[in-house]
Amino acid sequence: MPSRRFCSLRPSRSDELQDPKTPLRDRVLDILTKAELPLSAYDILRHVDMPSGRILAPPSIYRVLARLTKEGLVAPLESRNAFVRIRTKDPSRLVFCICEQCGIAQSVENEISPRLIDKNADSLGFQVRRRIIELQGLCSGCQSCPATAVNSTSLPPQVIK
Ligand SMILES: [Zn+2]
Repeated sequence: MPSRRFCSLRPSRSDELQDPKTPLRDRVLDILTKAELPLSAYDILRHVDMPSGRILAPPSIYRVLARLTKEGLVAPLESRNAFVRIRTKDPSRLVFCICEQCGIAQSVENEISPRLIDKNADSLGFQVRRRIIELQGLCSGCQSCPATAVNSTSLPPQVIK
């Protein structure tokens, strides 16, 4: 089963793509695409350059994130109050694996679990409208090198290089 890390080890090109004339939607998507960790709206706000000192309010970022979520380009991580870039045709099948040590979020596409969950919910007469499956644990990197892992309560504030 394929997994995807929301971790980019390639050098950031944020300087060349942070043109203030680029629509906010595209800039937010670019920031999330380059992010090594899930980002909150406030994390994103800190990385958005606005033209000529214009101040952007958090609701603007939330509106863009809602739009990108609806478009299936980003997904919220409820347990982290953060967002990640996704690339799948059916985000409802994603299972997010979130590392408690370093904060990295990886996803796997799973067809079986959502069907079972929906079937169980249906047995209660419950209509599922939104399904977010998040697993907490340790990523492979933190399992093999726990001494270098960052404590989950002190995630670095700068997650974009
Ligand atoms: Zn980790």
